[in-house]
Amino acid sequence: MINIRTNVFNPISPTQADFLPDHVISIEHGKIASITSFAEYQGSWEDCRNSIALPGLIDLHVHLSQYRIRGLYYPALLPWLEHSVFPEEERSRDSDYARKLSRDFYLALLKNGTTFSVIYTAPFREAADIAFEVAQELGIRAKIGMTLMDMNAPQPLLQSTDYALKHSIDLFEKWQNPFLGYIFTPRFAPTCSECLMREVAKYARQHEAFVQTHLSENPDEIAWVKEIFGKESYTAVYKDFGLLGPRTILGHAIHLSDAELALLKDSSSAIAHCPDSNFYLKSGEYPLPRISAAGIPFGLGSDVGAGTSLNMLYHAKLMNFRQSKYPVLPAEMLYRITLGNARILHLEHSIGSLDGGKDADMILLTPPRGFEIKEQSLSQLCFSGEDFTLSRLYLQGRRINLEQ
Ligand SMILES: [Zn+2]
Repeated sequence: MINIRTNVFNPISPTQADFLPDHVISIEHGKIASITSFAEYQGSWEDCRNSIALPGLIDLHVHLSQYRIRGLYYPALLPWLEHSVFPEEERSRDSDYARKLSRDFYLALLKNGTTFSVIYTAPFREAADIAFEVAQELGIRAKIGMTLMDMNAPQPLLQSTDYALKHSIDLFEKWQNPFLGYIFTPRFAPTCSECLMREVAKYARQHEAFVQTHLSENPDEIAWVKEIFGKESYTAVYKDFGLLGPRTILGHAIHLSDAELALLKDSSSAIAHCPDSNFYLKSGEYPLPRISAAGIPFGLGSDVGAGTSLNMLYHAKLMNFRQSKYPVLPAEMLYRITLGNARILHLEHSIGSLDGGKDADMILLTPPRGFEIKEQSLSQLCFSGEDFTLSRLYLQGRRINLEQ
């Protein structure tokens, strides 16, 4: 039994976070056994009174294969893909490179307090398998998908439709355990044939599997989709091919008509909002008030490599900063990188908040010297998170060595 005396911020909803000052978190068999006010607690304890405990952070959209090209600048999506992303993803064909990259990436996730992530890999079966193997070695929790492209991609990255489908299904069947799962990952409509998207959608629906892709990030991309598929909207392409649904996570979703919002709402699809990336590539401002008003679930992703950092507290701040008028409050900032993302992943029964019975995926953050921990500290943590030090991280109750 581990007993940690500390202060807890716990996400409840987009408008509520609970503050539990001076409580003892008891962990047993990898789960949170109880959280007790110190005034009512009896027993031994480890002293972390100068820390704030949060549930482990969740990154809803991140590209492992782009980890090393963060900050290599191209100010628009399509040139960025051509000049920065595709040459880098090609390097993951080399298994030694893919292995080293995976390890560096996962250790960086942990150092940033992320305990669950939803990952795109390079479009090679072996690189995807390596991503799973290294994740398993390190005890990482994630959904991981091999990025699929069977048209309009550079030759070295291009898959046949059969290759994309066969290996996706193989990976889905091979990697299913309490830590790791497969997510079907057509990159985006311009690089995926109708046949590939329909078959992925059919299989995923039959097997209750998750799907991720990108949607309406950039005006040139949207025009390209119109040219290829001729549908009334980008969202209609995914709708018609069967890709929308309650296990579908759509990256970005910036430029959407009311009719498209209705398609997302009616299908219970979710959005991975990536504010840092959206402004890095000058894609546009996420219509957060419209998405919220439409009742479409959304969470936050780093979108590394177009996102510049794996730190989800930084992305929570960017969610606020990248709204011209709408003031995102600290309770929502915390919710979107924890419990909100867990709900989108249908994992809220086990992760996303610190509650009795849930997995002990938890981080402890130490504030700057002289800082008083009180109810308003959540606001300071959300807006000045870089001043806090990640002092501990637990994955299912196991303390992870952050010096690796
Ligand atoms: Zn992305």
